[in-house]
Amino acid sequence: MNTPSEDRAPVTNFIRDIIAHDIKSGKHSHIITRFPPEPNGYLHIGHAKSICLNFGVAQDFNGDCNLRFDDTNPEKEEQEYIDSIREDVAWLGFKWKSNPSASDYFDQLYEYAVSLINKGLAYVDSLSPDEMRAQRGTLTEPGTESPYRNRSIEDNLDFFKRMKAGEFADGEHALRAKIDMASPNINLRDPVIYRIRHATHHSTGDLWCIYPMYDFTHCLSDAIEGITHSLCTLEFEDHRPLYDWFLDQLDTPCHPRQIEFARLQLKYTLTSKRKLNQLVQEGIVDGWDDPRMPTISGMRRRGFTPESIRNFSDIIGVTKKDSMIEMGVLENCLREDLNVRAQRRMAVLNPLKIIIENYPEDQVEYFDGKNHPQYPDFGTRKIPFSRELYIEQEDFMEDAPRKFFRLAPGREVRLRFAYYITCQQVIKNEDGSIRELICSYDPESRGGNTPDGRKVKGTIHWVSAAHAIDAEVRSYDRLFNVVNPARAEDVHDTLNPKSLQIHPNGKLEPEIETSRQPLAYQFERLGYFIADKHSSAEKPVFNRTMSLRDSWAKIEKEQDKN
Ligand code: ATP
Ligand code: MG
Repeated sequence: MNTPSEDRAPVTNFIRDIIAHDIKSGKHSHIITRFPPEPNGYLHIGHAKSICLNFGVAQDFNGDCNLRFDDTNPEKEEQEYIDSIREDVAWLGFKWKSNPSASDYFDQLYEYAVSLINKGLAYVDSLSPDEMRAQRGTLTEPGTESPYRNRSIEDNLDFFKRMKAGEFADGEHALRAKIDMASPNINLRDPVIYRIRHATHHSTGDLWCIYPMYDFTHCLSDAIEGITHSLCTLEFEDHRPLYDWFLDQLDTPCHPRQIEFARLQLKYTLTSKRKLNQLVQEGIVDGWDDPRMPTISGMRRRGFTPESIRNFSDIIGVTKKDSMIEMGVLENCLREDLNVRAQRRMAVLNPLKIIIENYPEDQVEYFDGKNHPQYPDFGTRKIPFSRELYIEQEDFMEDAPRKFFRLAPGREVRLRFAYYITCQQVIKNEDGSIRELICSYDPESRGGNTPDGRKVKGTIHWVSAAHAIDAEVRSYDRLFNVVNPARAEDVHDTLNPKSLQIHPNGKLEPEIETSRQPLAYQFERLGYFIADKHSSAEKPVFNRTMSLRDSWAKIEKEQDKN
């Protein structure tokens, strides 16, 4: 079967052009990229862009891509995050060449630091972190040199060794690169490269009490792994001179080229692990994989396909310019993919019982339903029909306007696949609410046609009451109702109170798998659905992955008019 993503046109962008040129010129015969997440949270849709880029170019140029954990912050990192990152990258469809951690290089990084000291290019500073910050200067004023800047190499080696041995408290000393306190680039004003942290690391335990800083670790890890192109987001552009400085000063296996690109910014979404973590910690969402979360695990639970996310990454492209992407772009990639993938079924979210008075009480007949309108390979299924059915409450109106083409007293509609029915009587509860409808059917209209050529405008979906599977169905809307929730001071102000709607009494056609598997359904007229990870035959729970149409686009268009 062809899916939109498999049919994709060849992707080009400025990074691919650079790599193609490097291969053509003979600079590299084999390219290696890496995706370097910090394991301090679950991956989100922004990371997906970087994953698709790094793994995608490696694949297309017959190179390799590593998954490297950037784990130099012992306090914030956890095994749970490591496991989830591996699962997400694999689910997106990518294979890493190797899966190291920056902590695997701690010994080598320490040796590199020692060699900087030996070259007179690093020193142990004994200013407090606050004093260091105060002396850093500003964008317009140069920084001030530390009084410890000119310690002898011997003293520096001795102090650094004692830092490693655990003789000092956190923040008492730090190792700094000796570059230029007057540099217009603040990153070059003697950046800290090692700090003291008496903390247990998730993988090295208590072996270390000094930890290397990101800028020092990152370029050296790249060089150790023989990375050819180190792709990162634009905020690291000002760090590139430092990236290159370390690699120029030290004797490393190679000198990777750092190339920056614009990060993904998606409207109505947050891509900050810190803020997403806050939603998880406060119980505002049902964990990192809540189907409303912009995390890869949340999107997976909701029913996104890896193909739709990869296709989205191709479509949005890779540039040097920041821009905000419409949420509709992602949603449409998903709709396009699910349209060709999802089996069709009927289900009712808000049931209203109808009784067909002239249909024999014990009779059941079966209609053939195509599982996909275009692909015969998907097969057909038998849809049971009987005297008592459920229809959608929204498909009935007691005082219907003329243009309401669904069911109303005295009016006729077509039941999808089945018969024409007419509403004869409305039965109410004591409180005045509607309990059920008494209808009649036209036996001549089997399959939805009438011999007299009579036409009805409306076709509605239904489920046989006696055969229905009871299910809880969850509909999702956007988690945030402001365009750029990252701008808000307080994340609580950005939440859409209607992001989760539960339909406790859903009724599903019987031929539906209720335990979790990657099988997507289109419930006709309602959208795309998938069994939730907690769904089972005993307690079926379905997630609405996506509606059939983009209702937000309409809302936004109307807002623009006003
Ligand atoms: P966060 O702010 O959510 O913690 P981060 O950038 O600190 O994100 P990392 O784990 O360091 O998270 O990210 C790993 C890689 O993913 C980095 O190379 C980073 O540039 C990239 N990345 C993160 N967010 C985005 C995004 N929105 N668009 C594209 N790439 C991203
Ligand atoms: Mg980071």
